[in-house]
Amino acid sequence: MIDLHTHSTASDGHLSPSALVARAASRGVHRLALTDHDTVAGIPEARRTAADHDIALVAGAEISASWERRTLHIVGLGLDIEDPTLTGGLNRQQAERETRAADIAERLARIGLNNGLGRARTSAGGGQITRSHFADLLVTDRLARNRQDAFKRYLRPGRPGYRRTVWAELADVIDWIHAAGGTAVLAHPFGYGFSGAWRRRMVAAFAEANGDAIEICTGVSTVEQESQSARDARRHDLFGSKGSDFHSPEQFWLDVGRVRAVPHNVVPLAIADPAPLSNDAPA
Ligand code: AMP
Ligand code: MN
Ligand code: MN
Ligand code: MN
Repeated sequence: MIDLHTHSTASDGHLSPSALVARAASRGVHRLALTDHDTVAGIPEARRTAADHDIALVAGAEISASWERRTLHIVGLGLDIEDPTLTGGLNRQQAERETRAADIAERLARIGLNNGLGRARTSAGGGQITRSHFADLLVTDRLARNRQDAFKRYLRPGRPGYRRTVWAELADVIDWIHAAGGTAVLAHPFGYGFSGAWRRRMVAAFAEANGDAIEICTGVSTVEQESQSARDARRHDLFGSKGSDFHSPEQFWLDVGRVRAVPHNVVPLAIADPAPLSNDAPA
């Protein structure tokens, strides 16, 4: 079993990197990518635990990218997490996340959320602050019924807690991933609320910018969407990837490793085995 898209407490996941790896192992996953939002901070811990569980841990990140004034998510897989181009790029995105979090908190204060920034920081526990953290606070304070409702009422474009964010350009994000020796995957093509025409434009732009693969199967994709993505992949000679986008055991409808195999008419993305952890490194 393979899962190439998951989150931990290094961003908006609810499990620590070690707990995520242990859960993946118990569910029979043998190859797991940790892909937190705009960070690789969870990778060293995940790697150490993976070695104990016979899991090949793929170093990844889900990087936010700007395209046509919209935000896309590009999963980088098989990354050298010390590559300076990559780490430089991620550092800038993280700085943007910080100022954005402060702005979102200020906006949400006007609708009655107290100390949003401090509390978001606490719940992020040193990891990247995302809109999900604010969504959870809105639920705690009964300003929203659940995460979805919080996004719909407060956090989406046009809503009072929304703050436009300028992420790095799509082509630059793909370049960082390649500089770090990684593979660039367009995440959840049906997750952006685009029409079919916009989705096809997005895939074309991604291929044009040297992207490598499309995430065809996710924890929420339908068979019909998967066959459309397979068609998109074939049209542009892209590999097919699969990843659950697991965030939390509370998302009972989705779990690590629970994702279909990519359709047979597409070449599945193969990520080379990570360098083995050496147990006999010189002291
Ligand atoms: P950010 O990158 O900070 O804008 O946060 C994006 C994250 O928020 C996504 O990765 C999802 O985990 C979560 N998210 C976005 N939209 C929704 C939604 N409508 N309902 C629940 N979670 C969402
Ligand atoms: Mn997320
Ligand atoms: Mn995403
Ligand atoms: Mn994700």
